[in-house]
Amino acid sequence: MGSLRKPIQVEEAIDRVLEKSYEGEIEYVSIENSFHRVLGQDITATTDVPGFDRSPYDGYAVWAASTEAASASNPAVLEVVGTQGADSVWKESLKPFQAVKIMTGAAIPEGANAVIMKELTQEFRKDGKTYVQIKRKVEAGENISRIGEDMKKGSLLIEKGTVITPGISAVLATFGYHYVPVMKSPKVVVIATGSELLEVYKPLEKGKIHNSNTYMLQAQIFRAHGEPILYGIVKDTFQNVFQAVTKAMQMADIIITTGGVSVGDFDYIPKVYEHLQAQVLFNKIGMRPGSVTSAAVVGNKILFGLSGNPSACYVGFELFVRPYIRAMLGQKNCYLKRARAILTKDFLKPNPFTRFVRAKLSFHDGKLVADPIGRDKSNIVSSLIHTNSLIVLPGGSRGFQAGSEVNVLLIEDEEGASSWL
Ligand code: AMP
Ligand code: MG
Repeated sequence: MGSLRKPIQVEEAIDRVLEKSYEGEIEYVSIENSFHRVLGQDITATTDVPGFDRSPYDGYAVWAASTEAASASNPAVLEVVGTQGADSVWKESLKPFQAVKIMTGAAIPEGANAVIMKELTQEFRKDGKTYVQIKRKVEAGENISRIGEDMKKGSLLIEKGTVITPGISAVLATFGYHYVPVMKSPKVVVIATGSELLEVYKPLEKGKIHNSNTYMLQAQIFRAHGEPILYGIVKDTFQNVFQAVTKAMQMADIIITTGGVSVGDFDYIPKVYEHLQAQVLFNKIGMRPGSVTSAAVVGNKILFGLSGNPSACYVGFELFVRPYIRAMLGQKNCYLKRARAILTKDFLKPNPFTRFVRAKLSFHDGKLVADPIGRDKSNIVSSLIHTNSLIVLPGGSRGFQAGSEVNVLLIEDEEGASSWL
C-alpha cells in the first residue's frame, strides 16, 4: 500500500475532511453550566435594554427649562418633591421648578427630561421643605440612558457557534436565559497504538515509553470543545487494532488513533481501514511533520490516523481534527486563525514540503514575533511546552531568515478563520 500513497497538499486534506463533516445537535444546559460551551443558536435581543429611560447617575431628575437661567452667582433652586430609587417610586408627574431625587438605574419620572449629577448640586432644607441648588444650565435630554440604547429588541447579538465568555453570560442572563442552547460536545475517542507504550502509572522499563499522546490529545480535545473518551493503549497486532477501532466506532463519531499509520512492519492502521472498507480521504500529505497523517470515513464516522510522534500527532490534530470538530459545533470559521509575525530565528534549510514549526507567539516592542521552540523534530515533546502557535513555512522555498515575515496559525484562538492561509 505504501508505494501507492499519493501526497496531497494540506489545504486539500483539510477540505476533504470538511466535506465529510456535518453539524451536531444542540442541548440545553443551565446557565450556571454554560460557561465555555458553544452557543447552539443565534441570540437576538428579546427586549429593549434598558427597557425604559433611566438615570445613569445618582442625582436629580428635572425639567431642564427650570435651570435655563442658572449660573454660579444665580443658582436655580428646585423643590425636591420625592425620591425615585430601587424601592421607592415617584408616581406623580414632575412640575416646573420641582426635582426628584433619583438613583442610578432608576426610571426617569414623568415630566422630567434631564438628570443632573448629585456631585454638581447642593441640597438644603428650609421651612420643612427640601430644595436643591443647581449652579448651571442643564440641557434637555442630558444624562438619560434611552430605552434600547444598549441593545435593541430584535437585533442579532451573538452568533451560533460562539464560545460563551463572561460577557456573553451577562447578556444571556440579561434576557432571562435560565437554560442555554449549546452544541453537544462532539465525542472523540483516542486509541494509542504501540507495543512499546506503558500506562502512565507504570514504572518505566528499558525500551518502553509512557503513553503521552493520549493525555496530550485529551487536552487538545478539551481545548477544541470536544468530549474526549480515552480508549487506552492497544498493542501492535492487526486483531487488536481492528477490534479497538471497531469498538471505538460505537463510542464516538470521531475516532483518533495514534501511531501505526506508516509503512513499518507493525503499522496496521492502513490495513484496518481496508478491512473496514473505509473511504480513505488521504494517507499522505506534503507536510512536515506528520506526512503519513491519514483520514478515512465509514458512514458518518471519521477516523483520523495520526502519527505516533508526539509533535506530528499534535500538529495533525490541530490541522485536521480541529476543523472537523468546529464544523460539528456549527461554527462557520473552521480553519485555524492566522497572523503575520516576524521570525526570530533562521531556517536556512531548503524546504521541499510545507513545514509547521511549533512556536511561541508574543508581542515584542509592539510587534508580533514568532519564536520557534526547541529542536524541530517530530519526536520532540519538550518543544510543545510553550507552543501556542504553528509557523507555516511553505514548501518549495530556499529557507527563511530571521526577521522575515511569516504566516502563523493560532491554536489557542476561539474564533477560527473562514479559509486556509
Ligand atoms: P509510530 O507512528 O507508531 O511509528 O510511532 C512513532 C514514534 O512515536 C515512536 O518512537 C513511538 O514510540 C512514539 N509513540 C507512538 N505512540 C506514542 C504515544 N502514545 N505516546 C508517546 N510516544 C508515542
Ligand atoms: Mg508504533
